Amino acid sequence: MSFPHFAQDLRQRNDQGLLRHRRMLEGPQGARVRVDGADLLSFCSNDYLGLANHPALIEAACAGARKFGVGAGASHLVTGHSLAHHQLEESLARFVGLPAALLFSTGYMANLSIITALVGRNDAIFSDKLNHASLNDAALLSRARFRRYAHLDLSALENQLAASHARRKLVVSDAVFSMDGDLAPVPGLLALCEKYDAWLLLDDAHGFGVLGKTGRGILEHYASSFTFHSSRIIYMATLGKAAGVSGAFVAGTLELIDGLVQNARAYIYTTATPPMLALALQESLRIIKTEDWRRERLEQLIAQLRNGLKLKHWQLMPSETPIQPLLIGSSKEASAVSQALREKGILVPAIRPPTVPQGTARLRISLSAVHSREDVELLLDALHQLERQ
Ligand SMILES: *Cc1c(COP(=O)(O)O)cnc(C)c1O
Repeated sequence: MSFPHFAQDLRQRNDQGLLRHRRMLEGPQGARVRVDGADLLSFCSNDYLGLANHPALIEAACAGARKFGVGAGASHLVTGHSLAHHQLEESLARFVGLPAALLFSTGYMANLSIITALVGRNDAIFSDKLNHASLNDAALLSRARFRRYAHLDLSALENQLAASHARRKLVVSDAVFSMDGDLAPVPGLLALCEKYDAWLLLDDAHGFGVLGKTGRGILEHYASSFTFHSSRIIYMATLGKAAGVSGAFVAGTLELIDGLVQNARAYIYTTATPPMLALALQESLRIIKTEDWRRERLEQLIAQLRNGLKLKHWQLMPSETPIQPLLIGSSKEASAVSQALREKGILVPAIRPPTVPQGTARLRISLSAVHSREDVELLLDALHQLERQ
């Protein structure tokens, strides 16, 4: 049995230079990584705080394995829900300042679960055009009416909300856009949700641990603009990025969390994550709370990159987060620049359509607290040299 549609797809991708390859890491994440036999300076992980290979987290995971074993052995509603999971949920809820939280195995599954549990036929979802793929997939799976509004465009969203006669309405947005690094206008989104009686789901995959004075994420970032004790907010964040481990959680009212435990299919029908990871994540939360220097270092590196880069053609996109995309334009040129950087020992991925809109191929530079000033200096020098060539 052959797969002719795959054969054609593979040929086509290859001809257009869009075939994706998996790099192979031979060790942990870090500022320097060993990839396919070479040691490279890396600007391409989401390990923004440098916790993925932190000794305290590794120790907590090992101690957790000795206490709970390596596998959860069952789903949460059977016998997979351990003390370690439960205490982590309580810690996460307290940390983000919401009444309750629920753990998921991955952010992708959390989004599928939340959205399909909240809305169905006769309901409507309003979604920023640049939202993460998992949110779009969830919307399709829910069978709700799926409307997308132009990126960050509150008036377009308002028009759609005003025209909707849906039974239930759900507005969905990345908090930090994963390929652009810019922020959702949360106060404006929440005001519209109040006005049109909608829920607001915020996916803070790239903000949790990073945004806000103490790393509590997008809600803390906007905390001074207004109060967030709105029961409309459904806050979701992932634990495999700044938190350095794996998994995701949803936080909100008790009623929301209780309802999800009964109805969230990607929660109910899957094996709980290893409890040892919950213990590693407690350590991660402790570091996020206490080590402000990691966020301060990130801020310094972001400023160094943005002030230091003096290019004519390629442009940094507006972003105050560790995601600093350098807009190149054509896919071919973006790939060539990424390749040329690699020859200089620097790893920065080229992000091309369909992941981003046509004509906006870019290098997605991501910074981490484990980078040094010298690392960023090397990147600046390399980019200046390459543009001149
Ligand atoms: C990475 C990401 C996810 C998926 O999270 P995983 O835990 O990696 O499955 C969801 N939403 C956004 C915005 C992301 O960047």
